[in-house]
Amino acid sequence: MRRISVKEEACIGCGICQVYCTMEHSKSKDAIKAYLKENPKPVSRIRVETNKPVSMSIRCQHCKDTPCVYACLAGAMTLDKETGLVTHDPEKCMGCWTCVMVCPYGAVKPDSSGKIIAKCDLCPNLDVPACVANCPNDALVCEEVDE
Ligand code: SF4
Ligand code: SF4
Repeated sequence: MRRISVKEEACIGCGICQVYCTMEHSKSKDAIKAYLKENPKPVSRIRVETNKPVSMSIRCQHCKDTPCVYACLAGAMTLDKETGLVTHDPEKCMGCWTCVMVCPYGAVKPDSSGKIIAKCDLCPNLDVPACVANCPNDALVCEEVDE
């Protein structure tokens, strides 16, 4: 199963991972268009927390116990048992924010419409997730792990 881990000692809290996440989840995949022109605006699915001197980039952990999947009344959050990925279906999401409340990592946020949520999908179209590939300090690691 694909997983992203963070090297706390290497994260400098620059927020570049958020920029590339936003770009990857935009229509244009272009920074200027994504930030200034697209409507609805794409949002980063990453949160960067800084408590000096430590910074950390936080995203969905695709938890084994999946509290968001159990809590979602609409069936919009599902666990793929083969890949271990927790996926979100925007067509089913009714924006009740239950998953926002139950996620222990604070990894779910409203998208820019304010009507549905957005969370890390591990960039299914890329060999390496955008945040990992573009972290200037190699603070993010993507690896296949056995569950
Ligand atoms: S959204 Fe939160 S609760 Fe759900 S799998 Fe990701 S980290 Fe876990
Ligand atoms: S906001 Fe959407 S995904 Fe989250 S619990 Fe509600 S319906 Fe499910």
